[in-house]
Amino acid sequence: MNRFEYVRAGSVAEAVTALGEPGALLKAGGIDVLDRLKEGLVAPRRLVSLEAPELRTLRDDARDGLRLGALVTLAALEAHPAVRGRYAALSQAAGHVATPQIRNVATVGGNLLQRPRCWYFRHADFHCRKKGGATCYAQHGENQLHAIWGNGTCAIVHPSTLATALVALGAKVTLSGPRGPRTMALEGFFSTPEHSLAGENVLAADEVLMELHLPPPAVGTRSVHWKQGERESFDWAIAEAAVVLELAGRTCKRASIVLGAMAPVPVRAKASEAMLLGKVIDPEVAALAARAAVAKATPLDKNRYKVQIFETVVARAILRAAGAA
Ligand SMILES: Cc1cc2nc3c(=O)[nH]c(=O)nc-3n(C[C@H](O)[C@H](O)[C@H](O)COP(=O)(O)OP(=O)(O)OC[C@H]3O[C@@H](n4cnc5c(N)ncnc54)[C@H](O)[C@@H]3O)c2cc1C
Repeated sequence: MNRFEYVRAGSVAEAVTALGEPGALLKAGGIDVLDRLKEGLVAPRRLVSLEAPELRTLRDDARDGLRLGALVTLAALEAHPAVRGRYAALSQAAGHVATPQIRNVATVGGNLLQRPRCWYFRHADFHCRKKGGATCYAQHGENQLHAIWGNGTCAIVHPSTLATALVALGAKVTLSGPRGPRTMALEGFFSTPEHSLAGENVLAADEVLMELHLPPPAVGTRSVHWKQGERESFDWAIAEAAVVLELAGRTCKRASIVLGAMAPVPVRAKASEAMLLGKVIDPEVAALAARAAVAKATPLDKNRYKVQIFETVVARAILRAAGAA
C-alpha cells in the first residue's frame, strides 16, 4: 500500500474542497475502499474520510417522501420502521447485503458507488477494458457470475443491491461539487460501458453524493426485493429483482420492475411492467411477465443458467408483491 495523506471532512463543502486535489479518493464506511487499497487497484495520494453529520439523517414525511443521507448505514436503513412499512423493498434490499457487521459500517452512498466485483477487474494482473486495456477477459473466460445482457463491451454486473430497489422506487439522487448541487433520477445516474468504460456512473471525481429522495408511495403500493445468491450467507447476488406494484384490489394499476446482477447497470424490465397493467396478478400472469424480462438476454458461455434463475426470481417477486405468493 502506498503512503497517503488522511483528511477528515466534517462537512460536504470540506469534502468537495479536499477532493479538488489530483489523486484524492473519498471514503465513507471504507468497506470497498479498503479492499481496493489492499488489492492494489487504487493508490490515492489523499484519502478523504467523509464525516459530515448532515449526511447521517433519514427523514420520512407522508407528503415529501423519504430523504436518505449518503452516510446512513445499511443497518439503520433496514431497521427503520417507516422504511420497513412504506418502502419494504428498500428495507429488504438493505437487509440482503453482506453480513450484519458489514451493514453496521457500510453506507448508502458507498453501496451505490462501490466498484464492480468482476474478478478480472479486481485482479491487478488483468489490464481489462475497464482499466484502459483492449480486452474484456470475462467475455471468453470465467463468466459464471457476469452479465447476461448489455455485455458486448464489458461484462460486469452492477454490484449494488440497494440500487435495484432504489431505482424501482423512483429515487432521485443529489450530488454536490464545486459547481453546486445537481439532482437527477437515479436511473439516469448509472452509465453503461458504452457510455463510460472507466466508471459506472456520472459522478465527477470532485463530487460527493449527498442524498437520495424517494417519492411517497401511492395508496395501494406494495414492494418486494428478491435476492438470489449462490448461498444463503453473505455474497453478492446471482439474480435480484425489485418489484413495486400499485394495486386496486388485486388488479395492477402501475408496475415498476428492476433487475440487478443482470447487466452493467440496473435494468428496468419495461415489457414485463407493461404486461402487468390492468391485470389481476396470478401465477400465469406473473410467469408471462417474468419470461418477457429475460426475452432479450444474451448470456455468455458459462452463465446461461442465470436466465432461468432470473425468470423464477421475477415471477416470485411479482407474486409476493401482489400478495398472491
Ligand atoms: C463479504 C461481502 C459481501 C458483500 N455483499 C454485498 C451484496 O450482497 N450486495 C451489495 O450491494 N454489496 C455487497 N457488499 C459490498 C458492500 O456492501 C459495499 O462495499 C459497501 O456497501 C460500501 O459502502 P461503504 O460505505 O463502505 O463505501 P466505501 O468503501 O467507503 O466507498 C465505496 C466507493 O464509493 C465512493 N463513495 C462512498 N460514499 C460516497 C459519497 N457520499 N459520495 C461520493 N463517493 C462516495 C468511494 O469513493 C468509493 O469509491 C459485500 C461486501 C463484502 C465484503
